[in-house]
Amino acid sequence: MTKLRLAIVGAGPAGIYAADILTKTEKHFDVSIDLFEQLPAPYGLVRYGVAPDHPRIKGIITALRDVLDSGHIRLFGNVDFGRDITLADLKKHYNAVIFSTGAIRDAPLMIPGIDLEGSYGAADFVSWYDGHPDVARTWPLDAAEVGVLGNGNVALDVARILAKHAEDLLPTEIPDNVFEGLKHSPVTDVHVFGRRGPAQVKFSPLELRELGELRDVDMVLYDEDFDYDEASKAAVASNKQVFVIDKVLNQWRARETGTASRRLHFHFFANPVELVGTDAVEAIRYERTVPDGEGGVVGTGEIREIPIQAFYRAVGYFGSPLDGIPFDEKRGVIPNREGQVLSDSGEQVHGVYATGWIKRGPVGLIGHTKSDAMETIKHVINDEASWWSPAEPDEAAIVALLESRGIEFTTLDGWHKLDEHELALGAAAERTRIKVVPRDDMVEISNA
Ligand SMILES: Cc1cc2nc3c(=O)[nH]c(=O)nc-3n(C[C@H](O)[C@H](O)[C@H](O)COP(=O)(O)OP(=O)(O)OC[C@H]3O[C@@H](n4cnc5c(N)ncnc54)[C@H](O)[C@@H]3O)c2cc1C
Repeated sequence: MTKLRLAIVGAGPAGIYAADILTKTEKHFDVSIDLFEQLPAPYGLVRYGVAPDHPRIKGIITALRDVLDSGHIRLFGNVDFGRDITLADLKKHYNAVIFSTGAIRDAPLMIPGIDLEGSYGAADFVSWYDGHPDVARTWPLDAAEVGVLGNGNVALDVARILAKHAEDLLPTEIPDNVFEGLKHSPVTDVHVFGRRGPAQVKFSPLELRELGELRDVDMVLYDEDFDYDEASKAAVASNKQVFVIDKVLNQWRARETGTASRRLHFHFFANPVELVGTDAVEAIRYERTVPDGEGGVVGTGEIREIPIQAFYRAVGYFGSPLDGIPFDEKRGVIPNREGQVLSDSGEQVHGVYATGWIKRGPVGLIGHTKSDAMETIKHVINDEASWWSPAEPDEAAIVALLESRGIEFTTLDGWHKLDEHELALGAAAERTRIKVVPRDDMVEISNA
């Protein structure tokens, strides 16, 4: 019987679901899967993106762990594709590769002042508060008034973490350095800006509602944003999600405010045009917009200014190119047809596949990566005739290669050790978990 030796690069949900689906799909050949991950720990953005105060979503890790523990997959953590292993290595040892490398960078925002001190990308801040090993341990939290641009869930996460009292994050798996940083934050006002109106936002109703439950934080909304046009009224009437969002926002409008020590402002129809400041951010200038009657907005030419000392843009994530693999610079994805990777001239690159955010762009929830993986795996199986013919398919050969290069890779057993270590640290402090942040410490504990 033939055997498919498959490499998967990226141990986020997309890569893990792909491995799971492949092992469970009926097929006439055996499979052996090696999962490569640049971080010493698996789970991608579930560990390093989903906010620490969302334990229910973090709980998806339990299902992902079950897949890793199923006995069908080997994990090679702390191995970076492009630096530690190359496409040529994979061709030598595997029949095919799936890239599921996700997206970790912030999409750019081209407005004057964006490079001022105090202007940050949401992805960097998220990596910091979720204890990503490759970002600085400290974050400058010295602003009393902060702006957050974006009307999606990442903007809500960032605004919530900034506005929430640090003590209320303590029971979560928030790293110690993050708790210490947030505890000393002098923040009083967080301003969330979005170009469009309340009926056009991309927030999940559940995440939005959660903001209104923050202790000692007033929700501040502005009446002028709720004078809906016909298209907005129709959206509220016809779309359940928009209906709930509108209801939540209107409940907040009816609340008494003025007693809380922190405020969360929502500025709809506000299109940021400039960050003002000499060396550091001092204010945000935005153009007031109005509905265009078709669900979009147009600028009015009216410019307003609000003082802020820090600015976070949550305008989307962006994938990174991988050595030797085609890349669409505009969309930040690997060009593909249903997961089959395509060359610049549109030809299928045999043996190379993509899934998850690097396949379809950084939108959608964890659950969406499952349907993504199904589509990609269907092609991996059907493309048997064009798989690579590796010179050294033996499972021991890749281990020997990594060892010969002196790469301190971590394994599934190592991850179990680190996981137990973090849980024990948490239990001792009556917290869910305390994450180990420095990469060297993660590797040392895993490989002890
Ligand atoms: C801030 C934020 C909050 C979110 N909150 C939620 C939520 O509450 N609920 C929800 O359902 N979804 C949420 N999502 C969406 C969810 O995280 C994504 O849908 C999902 O993680 C995408 O999965 P992925 O496997 O494609 O990418 P990722 O999760 O990014 O995984 C990619 C993996 O590939 C690895 N990798 C990258 N490059 C290399 C390389 N060169 N070599 C080896 N490995 C590499 C990365 O280290 C990473 O582990 C959130 C996303 C963000 C950004």
